[in-house]
Amino acid sequence: MTWLSFEVRSTRRTHLIDITEQVAEAVGRGGVSDGVCHVFVPHTTAGVTINEGADPDVARDIESHLGEIVPREAAFQHAEGNSDSHIKTVLIGPSCTAPVRDGKLALGRWQAIFLCEWDGPRTRQVEVAVSPL
Ligand code: ZN
Repeated sequence: MTWLSFEVRSTRRTHLIDITEQVAEAVGRGGVSDGVCHVFVPHTTAGVTINEGADPDVARDIESHLGEIVPREAAFQHAEGNSDSHIKTVLIGPSCTAPVRDGKLALGRWQAIFLCEWDGPRTRQVEVAVSPL
């Protein structure tokens, strides 16, 4: 097993980006027919999650409502001014897993994998690996 990586460029401060195709391509290159796909982002203000990809309004709602739950301006101590981004990343988490069947990413019908940018725009790194069963 080896980690495959790719980069994603966000274009807004908060931005859910569908990375399903890039992950599926990495899974295909991994050469594992049945296993578990691990997706990890090595960042403290961006995470990764699986949710609905069919209707783009869902990603927009997640962005805007997490912004209401964790407002940008609050009584934070972190001097960098992006504590809201760190907290949103804690809520989302830095990794997710999905099944691989017959060499392909086996998501649910409506599912997509999203890089969740909370302090963009930036270039982010995504690491993908597949563990065989
Ligand atoms: Zn910070």
